[in-house]
Amino acid sequence: MRDCALCPRLAALRGELRVAQPEWWNAPVPALGDPEAGIAIVGLAPGMKGANRTGRAFTGDASGDLLFATLEKFALAEAGEPKGVLILNAVRCLPPGNKPLPEEIRTCRQFLSGQLRAPVTIALGQIAHQSAVKAMGGRLPKTPFGHGNEHRMPDGRVLIDSYHCSRYNQNTNRLTAEMFEAVFARAMELRG
Ligand code: SF4
Repeated sequence: MRDCALCPRLAALRGELRVAQPEWWNAPVPALGDPEAGIAIVGLAPGMKGANRTGRAFTGDASGDLLFATLEKFALAEAGEPKGVLILNAVRCLPPGNKPLPEEIRTCRQFLSGQLRAPVTIALGQIAHQSAVKAMGGRLPKTPFGHGNEHRMPDGRVLIDSYHCSRYNQNTNRLTAEMFEAVFARAMELRG
């Protein structure tokens, strides 16, 4: 598992970082939380100094700070531990420049598909949205990405879109804490 080599470019970057930063995780980052949770969250990929460093999804950088602060407001986390929620990434290894290639997203989808079972999923950003739609058997032309958009999948599951909680989106106010909380409030309503 630590040495998945299905994406040669990402495996090579991991190898370089294992030499340069041997104390970091530098491996595919596993899902975090309850596999049977009612709400799943799909991010893009590990951040270099966040999940790639710590080995825990959305832990150690600004994205994780906002995500966990929001989860705690909705009692979906306590003391940094997810509760009733499963946190995944579309791509499990650090991509150069935070930009995975289409074939890397496609290749890693087998892991996303295997774990994405929740009745309600929140996709963080367009790439996570696209991969989650495909993982759930939906059709992209019918499910355009947009902050707050809701999509009913063929099997009845619901996908809600959000702008990604990246530092950039926070700093530019593309995503405010209030906008993010509105998405989670809706997910809680739909989960029931
Ligand atoms: S991104 Fe996914 S499929 Fe690609 S090497 Fe990492 S774990 Fe394997």
